[in-house]
Parts: sequence; C-alpha cells; structure tokens
Amino acid sequence: MNNCVFCAIVDGDAPSVPVYDDDDVVAFLDIRPITRGHLLVIPKRHSQDLETLDPHLGGALFAAGQRLSRAIRRSDLRSDGANLVLNDGKAAFQTVFHTHLHVVPRWTGDTLRFVTGFVTRRLKNPEATASAIRTGLTRLDEEEST
Ligand code: AMP
Ligand code: ZN
Repeated sequence: MNNCVFCAIVDGDAPSVPVYDDDDVVAFLDIRPITRGHLLVIPKRHSQDLETLDPHLGGALFAAGQRLSRAIRRSDLRSDGANLVLNDGKAAFQTVFHTHLHVVPRWTGDTLRFVTGFVTRRLKNPEATASAIRTGLTRLDEEEST
C-alpha cells in the first residue's frame, strides 16, 4: 500500500476508463481531459518520475504512446496529430508522482489551451471515447496484418 492513485488503478482498486493494457503498461482516459481522448500511459510498476523510471519501461511507455496516437488517428475521433508530454518533477508541473505519459490528441485548427479551464474540465461520454480508441487499435492491428 503506497497511497498512489495510479497504482490503485493498476490494481483495480480505483476506477478508470481503460483503453490499453500490456505486460508493462496500462493506458486510461485522463479524468480532466485537455482534448477528447486525452490518455495517460503509465508503467504498471511504480516509479515516481524520470529519475526512478526503468529505461526499459520508458521505452515501453513511449511505444504504447506512439501506438495509441496512431490508433486515435484511425479511430472515429479522427485526430490529425498529438502532443506526447511527460511532466518530470514539480518544476515541470508534475502533480501525480507515478510516472506517466500524456497522449493529447490534436486536430488541425483546434484552439487548445493547456492551462485554461484546468479546474472545470470534465470527461464527456468517456465510454464512447474509450470505445472509439479501442476500435482505432483494432483498425491499426488489421492494417498491420494485411
Ligand atoms: P501531471 O501534471 O503530469 O502530473 O498530470 C496528472 C494528470 O493526472 C492530470 O491531467 C489529471 O487530470 C490526471 N489524473 C489525476 N487523477 C486521475 C485519476 N484518478 N484518473 C485519471 N486521471 C487522473
Ligand atoms: Zn504508483
């Protein structure tokens, strides 16, 4: 028991809307999304930041973030790009101290503000969003197997 909310999500002891899971990482919807489909990818094994993250897991984190970004492009969310962001340490605005990679889908011409509305942002239709992203992953799998 380490009082870490993301470890609790990995253990199934805290709620989340999951979209991806493998041996090393899980990905789920951010509870205060900057854009629709904003995900967090986290290592299953707890680390606090980049100092304490096993580089192998860092590779797995980025590989999953890359895959999910490509899946969201193919999903019905039809993103045009993404920001992959990792806030390392308080100085970089890290607030949850279980290392995590943000995947923030982007659309051409969107008017994204990373800071504005931080407190008021809420998930809208989380299950539909997660389901669309999972379908994007299936489309990517199918594309790669043909
Ligand atoms: P950071 O500033 O990089 O530490 O960002 C932490 C992120 O975690 C924020 O975008 C929060 O909205 C998100 N977050 C915090 N708690 C949860 C939770 N229980 N489930 C999903 N996302 C969360
Ligand atoms: Zn943790």
